[in-house]
Amino acid sequence: MTIRTKIALQFSVIVAALLAVFSIGIYYLSENYRQQEFYNSLRDRAVTTARLLIKEPQIDKQLLKVIDKNTLTTLYPAQVLVFNDSNQVAYYNYEADTIYYSPELLNRIRSKRYIETTFGSNQVVGTMYSDTLNKSYAVLAQAEDVYGKEKLMNIREAMYTGYFSAIILTIILGFVFAGQSLKPISKINEEISHITASSLRKKLDTGNNTDEIATLAVNFNKMLSRLDSSFELQKSFVSNASHELRTPLAAVKSEIQVALQNERTPEEYKTILNSLLNDNQRLIKLTNSLLQLAKSEAQENTVNLRPIRIDEILFDVQDEILHLNPNYKIQIDFEDIPEDINWVTVNGKEALLKTLFTNLIDNACKYSQNQQADVRIKANNQNCLISVSDTGIGIQKEELEKVFEPFYRTSRATSYKGSGIGLSICKRIVDLHQGKISLKSEVDVGSLFVVILPHT
Ligand code: ADP
Repeated sequence: MTIRTKIALQFSVIVAALLAVFSIGIYYLSENYRQQEFYNSLRDRAVTTARLLIKEPQIDKQLLKVIDKNTLTTLYPAQVLVFNDSNQVAYYNYEADTIYYSPELLNRIRSKRYIETTFGSNQVVGTMYSDTLNKSYAVLAQAEDVYGKEKLMNIREAMYTGYFSAIILTIILGFVFAGQSLKPISKINEEISHITASSLRKKLDTGNNTDEIATLAVNFNKMLSRLDSSFELQKSFVSNASHELRTPLAAVKSEIQVALQNERTPEEYKTILNSLLNDNQRLIKLTNSLLQLAKSEAQENTVNLRPIRIDEILFDVQDEILHLNPNYKIQIDFEDIPEDINWVTVNGKEALLKTLFTNLIDNACKYSQNQQADVRIKANNQNCLISVSDTGIGIQKEELEKVFEPFYRTSRATSYKGSGIGLSICKRIVDLHQGKISLKSEVDVGSLFVVILPHT
């Protein structure tokens, strides 16, 4: 069922239910009012007849019957019976003795002084009337409110007609309005169906820019922009990666070709093999970095974090780097470490955190003349802050953001070995740990990377 049909039907059901409640309520109130009004008329009629009969002796019973019959117009055949103390009929206005009464009913009238009841389709009123000699009479008046019932029936018919017409109208209007309200969604649907992977730059029409549907379109456009830029990133990543892999592979190929052109001495073969080994190592490093980047991308939702002491990680990283590069100098300043070790414990993944600090410290040593990295740990009540600084070649202001993009290398760094992937991996790892990484740098003065990670 379409949303349009659903809205129209739901709306109609609600209106139908409300109308039914109102109509039934109004009908019952009218019926009560009619009944009460008729009882009142019957009571007046009973009292008038009794008064004429009892208080005006000059009016004889035959004359009273004539008067009664001539006033039947207002209360259709209203039958009036007057009973004396001994329950004998003192007067009746109706020849046919069809009026309902019984000694019990008369006793009830005497004890309650006034009663209202029904007999078949007739309404019956019983009341007491006393004359000047204090003789009391029970008076019964009975009639069917044909006129009132007819009026009520007319109201009922009008209600039925109004009710069903209103429902039909509500369904039609519901469909029209639901269609109108959903029109922008149908339009968006139509526009979306034309958007493909190659046309992510297309944007949806945001209409009046104020209602919920406009907000949906705006958000969808934002999502398209994000998709577009991540597609672009993906594309440039693939081409950069293949370019980076091709360069050492081409170098290897030409080295082998050159080596095969002539007979070589064992020393020459050794030199060539060493050079090939170098290229091979560079390739292994690059593919490892690519693998790490891919892994960190995939781990977004699956990474299992556990409490890890940052100071211990930094010690391990220091050992590993110095083992591979004995010339490097790594100063770790633990002076600011708080006493509470929880402040330097973060929820993280050990291998990823090691990669993060290895990249930063390795870069600091690699891009500095003195090959030295200074590491500092600090903490506040929320975060653990780790800074890695050097006094190396530095980075130009306009390149500070770009160095975190995959494969970006500054022009000053081309003479150093590297692939430009390390910092993008660092950024990814920090994001995975809900942290932040910032960079301050000045050319030929040095660089300062600060990693902020929320501690346990
Ligand atoms: P790589 O070092 O393999 O080139 P990275 O992703 O680690 O790749 O770094 C990206 C670029 O950022 C480097 O090529 C270099 O230009 C610059 N960079 C990174 N760290 C430093 C640093 N400590 N000092 C100067 N430049 C740096």
